[in-house]
Amino acid sequence: MPDVFDVAVAGVGVAGAFLLRNLSKDLSVVGIDKREKLGFPVECGEIVPVKKEMRILLPNLKDYSLFDIPEKYESNRTDYIRFIAPDGREFISEFKMHVVKRDEMISDVAESGGHRIMKSSRIVSFRKESNAGIIRLDNGEKIVAKIVAGCDGANSRIAAGLKLKKLLAVPAKQYVMRNVDCDEDSIYMYVGKKISPGGYAWIIPKGDGIANVGIGFVSSRAEKGDTIRKALDRFIKEYPYSSKYLKSAEIAGEIGAVVPVDLPYERAVYDNTILLGDAAGMVISHVGAGIPTSMVAGDLAAKVINESFEGGDFSHLQEFDLLWKKSMLETIKSSYFIKTLWDRISDSDERLSRYLKLINNRDMWEILHSRTPLKLRVAAFFIPILNLFF
Ligand SMILES: Cc1cc2nc3c(=O)[nH]c(=O)nc-3n(C[C@H](O)[C@H](O)[C@H](O)COP(=O)(O)OP(=O)(O)OC[C@H]3O[C@@H](n4cnc5c(N)ncnc54)[C@H](O)[C@@H]3O)c2cc1C
Repeated sequence: MPDVFDVAVAGVGVAGAFLLRNLSKDLSVVGIDKREKLGFPVECGEIVPVKKEMRILLPNLKDYSLFDIPEKYESNRTDYIRFIAPDGREFISEFKMHVVKRDEMISDVAESGGHRIMKSSRIVSFRKESNAGIIRLDNGEKIVAKIVAGCDGANSRIAAGLKLKKLLAVPAKQYVMRNVDCDEDSIYMYVGKKISPGGYAWIIPKGDGIANVGIGFVSSRAEKGDTIRKALDRFIKEYPYSSKYLKSAEIAGEIGAVVPVDLPYERAVYDNTILLGDAAGMVISHVGAGIPTSMVAGDLAAKVINESFEGGDFSHLQEFDLLWKKSMLETIKSSYFIKTLWDRISDSDERLSRYLKLINNRDMWEILHSRTPLKLRVAAFFIPILNLFF
């Protein structure tokens, strides 16, 4: 092992895998992850929009080939999102998605770079010095690298080492369920305080009756005494618009994790340290989606890091801030606008249902694609007045 690596990739999830894949073979690189098996257990709904949808979602990308996801990583492909209001009204939007085998994809993509990956290695702290970054592992080992890429997700040790404020995140809980009897062509999104205060609930069919079934849950927005487990069980057993698909379903697996729902940090580059993906807050927050943005971030960062070594000029890393902002910031901001507007109208299920009566299928299509229909932008100004009537 070298005394000083060229690059340490801290965390090998989505962003880390796509970064490792494209870092030059001429560099000495190490990936570090606390997991024994990359990407496993899967803490995710596993949906990724197909390439055609990505052109709409992130219209400023130069190259969409990243989203030519091979079929071998697909457990299902869906055509629609069904969005269900608290009063049961259903919006149907065409929105084609891969339901990916996220763990297999992460593992193969990461290993394809041919770089060394240290698994079962938990990062406990990080310190940035003027010409290197120092990572400490739980076994006492010290990893020193000229460039450190923080790809370690929502609770990033690298962001903490940079003394950045913690980004706002929503706790989520998900079961993998068998014997789910829903339309496997559709992803189901449910909103309402009864089942998912401050978030949404989902059924994501993986094919053959298996589905990811989960909820986001913000306790400060929930009824007193309610918990994420109780709410998820209610969603499965009692809620009329979801339990009809889940009444015979059995739990095959269970995870809990958090989804960042904040705006990203102002910048992702801090001299010789860069942040990517959830660690930087690069998420489409109103739907809690961060796979595509993390894939793009990993890809762009590899390009910039390779160029920095080729030119022998680390100040070139700044280019990453220009690139990721150009590629995704507009979408991220628009999504955040929708999310905050949502928070302002969803304190009661009755009120939320009344507001949703103003929305048609076309508006919902735009909202799901992180666009803000004019009526939403106008309504945002008048929420305090509208709330008196709704
Ligand atoms: C329940 C749930 C459902 C979701 N569903 C979707 C979805 O369907 N579609 C979508 O686009 N997004 C979804 N997301 C969000 C998406 O999973 C993330 O935005 C995305 O994975 C971010 O990628 P990342 O590489 O930044 O972080 P991650 O993929 O989380 O990778 C971080 C890596 O860092 C490692 N790590 C963390 N801390 C340490 C440490 N101290 N030491 C060593 N290693 C460490 C982890 O083991 C992990 O491998 C969901 C999130 C949750 C919680």
